[in-house]
Formats: sequence, structure tokens, C-alpha cells
Amino acid sequence: MRNLIFVFILFCAQINASTHLPIKNISQSTPDHKTQRTLRVQNLSQGDSFYQDAVQHYEKKEFSAAIVLFKKAASLYTLSKDKKHLNQLGKIYTDIAQSYKRLKKRDETVEYYQKALSVFKLIDNKRNIARTYNTLAEAQRYIDKYEIALESSMKSLKLHNVIDDPEGKAKAQIGAAIIYRHIGRYEASLEQAYRAYRYFKSVNNTARIAKAANEMGLIYTKLKQFDQANFFYNQTINLPIEDIDTNTLATALRETAVIELTNKHYQSARELAQQALEVYSKTQEFDKQSVVTRIIANSYRKEKNIEQAIFYYQKSLALAQAIDSDIYRIKTLIPLSDILIKIDINQAISQLETALALSKKTNDKKHQLYIVSTLKKAHKKQAHFAKALSYAEQYIKLKAQIIKQQDKNQLKLVKANLYSQKLEMELIQLKEKAKSDKLALAKKKNEVEIAQKEKTISELKLAKNKYTTLFLSLFLIVSLISVLVIYRSFIASKKLNKELDYLATRDPLTDCFNRRYLFDYLNKNNNLALKKLCCIIMLDIDHFKVINDTYGHSVGDQVLRDIAKIVKNSLTEHHIATRFGGEEFCLLLPDTSVDSALAIAEKIRIKVEKYRINDIKVTCSFGVSTTDDNAKSSSGLIDRADLALFKSKSLGRNTVSQWSADLDS
Ligand code: GH3
Ligand code: MG
Ligand code: MG
Repeated sequence: MRNLIFVFILFCAQINASTHLPIKNISQSTPDHKTQRTLRVQNLSQGDSFYQDAVQHYEKKEFSAAIVLFKKAASLYTLSKDKKHLNQLGKIYTDIAQSYKRLKKRDETVEYYQKALSVFKLIDNKRNIARTYNTLAEAQRYIDKYEIALESSMKSLKLHNVIDDPEGKAKAQIGAAIIYRHIGRYEASLEQAYRAYRYFKSVNNTARIAKAANEMGLIYTKLKQFDQANFFYNQTINLPIEDIDTNTLATALRETAVIELTNKHYQSARELAQQALEVYSKTQEFDKQSVVTRIIANSYRKEKNIEQAIFYYQKSLALAQAIDSDIYRIKTLIPLSDILIKIDINQAISQLETALALSKKTNDKKHQLYIVSTLKKAHKKQAHFAKALSYAEQYIKLKAQIIKQQDKNQLKLVKANLYSQKLEMELIQLKEKAKSDKLALAKKKNEVEIAQKEKTISELKLAKNKYTTLFLSLFLIVSLISVLVIYRSFIASKKLNKELDYLATRDPLTDCFNRRYLFDYLNKNNNLALKKLCCIIMLDIDHFKVINDTYGHSVGDQVLRDIAKIVKNSLTEHHIATRFGGEEFCLLLPDTSVDSALAIAEKIRIKVEKYRINDIKVTCSFGVSTTDDNAKSSSGLIDRADLALFKSKSLGRNTVSQWSADLDS
């Protein structure tokens, strides 16, 4: 799609590139074979052929013939709805308008530019719309419709402000400058022309620099700033001759000649006019040749070189007659008769009468007034008083008409002037609006940027929060792990402590409490143990030395372990079994009556008696003491149990004895 648009723009650009010369060959400007095929399908090949023939006539300056063929081509293109074809139709209408322009058929020129404009509007080709408004403005100016011309010109400028066509814009500025000059707005005119001049200089478009410089010269001439005017005309004159339009060069030469004439530099004026004449001779511009010849004549007249003056006026007159130009004939006849009046008054009167007829024919009141006034003077000089009076009457009448016309023209110009100011205001407003639109756009862009930044910030915040959460989570995990590790090590430590505690209080061989534990316990609970009911059983393995000696130390160890097991199994969890010495056990029984203690001891004694290891028989002796017997201290209680144990040993072993007072002795 983008490619298609690009091709279309290229196509339009090619059409525009040759705005001032018709396209030589449609197929050349449409290299797309597909488009060509489509053209044929739509029977447009006929239009193509008409168009090419028209172009040939146009190039030969056979404008009427060109118009007929252009119109035939156009009639075929009107059937198409294709954008490209409609653009081509607009182009053909432009060519027709340009042909009419060459024929000086002003109304038709306007008509066809308007047709071109409506076609370009239909397909919304802004570039061509803008350019056509400018050419249309020029055509409208030619028919003295300044207000309308101004409007078209301003539309062109307005459009050029919003599209990218700097060359078209500069051309529109020149167009506007010319209209401003015509309605006497020289400052505005200068501004526009200078912008265009600067643009063409920046792109080094020599031909256009020359045209813009000439326009600058014309405006400065109107402002009577002749030095400035000369400066700009000389810009044109000094440009490479092969790069500029010969007529443009001739205009600069002609206009500087006029300035030189005003400055009373007659020789210089003549030289410049001669140069211009050479150019116009080459281009066969008879009307312009007539004008510069008249300038030469004028220079001679100012120098009072009557002979040369008359020669050149007559030459100018012949040229004007050759092209049947009434206005140029009048313009030459007046100064010629001015000279002749002093030499040959009758010939002067005859020339003046011819001029008068021509001025009446062309309704040229300004020259008519001058002619009537001169004729009045001539007839008065000849003493033709009746005729002189008649011309005097004509003069008065004409003067009144001219004043009225002048007022009307003045009014027209003032109106146009005011209108131009109004349009200018609109243009300024438009520019202001464009500026404010641009600002609004910039603001909006900024807002979008701010919003984007805000979004980024919030995203960053979100990310930050996210990462904070993540970090916190990580921290929490790390903490938890740390806690867990610490806890585990704490548990381990605790376990270790417990183990250490356990080990500190236990006997490793029998897993019974050790002696230290028993004493710590008794110390801690000294008073309590004594106040409360409590018994102690002291147990000693009989003849253990023999077991060790007979079966070995390891068997002895096994016996120790097995007896400890029997002891523990015979006690409750409230009882404390301790290994008191090598093969001695001390059993502490809190809240236990002596009878119960004696029963427990007996139970253990029987169990041990029944116990066998490698058929070896083992027995134990027991001593029991109780707090009921008023022991003075816990150690005293143990001593009493020990005494009772000694009693059991002495009674023959494998027996249980209770402490009694007699044992102390
Ligand atoms: P009594 O009937 O008079 O108590 O005679 P006894 O042999 O049991 O007494 P004695 O005190 O003469 O001998 C105790 C023996 O216990 C001496 C010692 O080698 C032994 N013994 C002490 N501790 C251990 C031990 O942990 N393992 C083993 N196997 N023997 C031990
Ligand atoms: Mg012993
Ligand atoms: Mg023993």
C-alpha cells in the first residue's frame, strides 16, 4: 500500500515538474505498464493520441489548434473515475488554460484554471490545488478582478503553508507580490517577493531568481527607490545568460533603461534599451520591440535629438502596427506628435487625430484626455478657434468622466486594499492557529511523555515493591533457614546438653544413675527427703571377685548389666537406682514404706537368684533403711542401709536385712 502511495506521489510530482510545459508523452510520465493497459481498456489510448498531438501544436505556438485537441483529450478523460486519470484531466485543463493565456483570452484562461481546480479538488490533490489557485489568481488579475485574484492567491499561500511544496509556495509568493503591487500595497508586495527571491537563491534556481529579482525591481521602481530597483535588475542582468529566460533578461534591461531615462542618463538608457531590443528581436516579441524602441526614441527626444527621436518613434509605430496593437500605437503617436507640433503642425494634428480615434476605440480615457488637450492647443495655435473650443469642451467632459472613473478605480483599489488586509489578517490568524495547534500538539506530546514516564515510574515502583516483597521473602526464607539452622543447632545443643547431662549423671556400663547424682539429689532434697517418707536399699553382689576371676572381666561386666536391668525392672519411675560402687547399687525409694522397700528388695533378691549366665549362679545381699527410723541426715540413712547390708553379708549372703539401732554399735 505504501509503495502504491509512493508511486502515485511520484506520478503527481512528474506532472507538476512540468507545470509550465505540457507533458510530451503521457506514456513517458506513466512508466507503469499496468496503468497503460488500464488506459487502453478504458479507451483512453485515443485521448493519449489527441494529447500528444495537442502538445506538438502547443510547442509550435499553435495554441488554437492545441486547444481543440486538448479539449478532445479532456472529453475522453472525463469518463474515468480513476484518480490518476482525473489528475491527468486536471493537467489537460491546466494546459488549455495556459494555451488561452498565450492567446490572451483572459476569461477562458480563468474558466479552464477553475475547471482544473475543481478536478484537483475532487481527487484532493492539495499540491495541484495550491499551485492552480496561484495560476488562477494571475488569470483573475489579468481581467482586473483584484479582490477575487487576491482571494485565490491567499488560498494558494494558505495551502502552501500546510503542504510540503517550497517551490510552489515561492511561486505563490511571487503571485501574491504582483497582486499586492497592483493594488498599491508595496510593502506587502516586497515582503512576498523577497521571500520567494530568498528561496530561489537558496536552491540556486537561476531562472526563478531572475524573475523574483525583476519583481523586486518593479516594486522598488513603484516606490521610486531606483537604486534598490537597479540593484535587483542588475541581479538578473549579471546571471549566466544561458540559465535565464531571455524575456526575463530583456525585462531587466528594459526597466533599467527606463530608470536611467528618469535619472537623465540618456546614453546608458539607450544602451540598455538596445540590448533589450536585441533580445526581443531574437524572440520575435514585436510588442516589446515597440516598447524598447520607444524608450530609445524618448532618450533622443530628451537629448533634443529630434531626427533620431522621430526615426525611432516611427520604427516603434511600425512595430505596433505590425502586431495591430492600438495601445502601443497611441503610446508612440503622442510623443511623436509632441515633437512634430513644433516642426510640422498639420502632420502632428493628423497623427493626434489617429491617436484620438484609437483611444476612443479602446476606451483609453487617460490618453484620450492628453490627445484632446494637445489637439486643443494645436488648433488654437492654428487659429481654429471653433475646433479648439470643441476640444476644450471634450476635455472638460472627459476630465469629469476620468475623475469619476478614477474615483471608481480608486475605490476599487481601496476596496481591494482593505480586502487584502482582511485576508492577511485571516492568514495571520491561520498561522497563529497553526502555531497554537503546534503548541497544543507539543503539549499533548509532552503529556504523553509525562504519562509514559509516570507509567515507567509506577512500573519501577511496582518492580521495587515486587523486589522488596521478593527481598523480604528471601530475607524471611534466609531468616527462617537461619532460625531453623539455629534451632536445629539449638536442639542439637540441647540434645547434646541432655546427653552430656545424662552422661554426667549416668553410669555408662549399667545405665543406672551414678553416685554423684545420688548425692546431688540428696543434697537438693535433704530436708524434704528427711521430712517425707523415704527408704534406701543397698545391694551388693556376693563374691563378685570370684566371677571376675573365674569367667573373666567381660562376663563380670555382663553380670553387672543384667543385675542392673533386673533392679530397674523391679522399681517404678519414682525410684532412683544408682551404681554406688564397683558391684554395689544404692536404690532410693521416695514415698515408700519400709515394708514396701523390704518387699522390693526381696523381689529383686529372688529374681537375681533365679538368674543364670553360662550356668553361673549369682546372688545379692540387701540392706534397707528408712526415714521412719529418724535418721539425722541423708548420708546417715545410706550408712544405715550399708550397715543393714553388712548384716546380710554376715548372715551368709543372699538375704535382705533392715537397719536396727543395735547395728550402730
Ligand atoms: P563379698 O561377697 O564379700 O562382697 O566378696 P566380693 O568378692 O564380692 O568382694 P570384694 O570387694 O573382695 O571384690 C569386689 C570385686 O569386684 C573386686 C573387683 O575386681 C570387682 N569389680 C569391681 N568393679 C568391677 C567392674 O566394673 N567389673 C568387673 N568385672 N569387676 C569389678
Ligand atoms: Mg562389695
Ligand atoms: Mg561383693
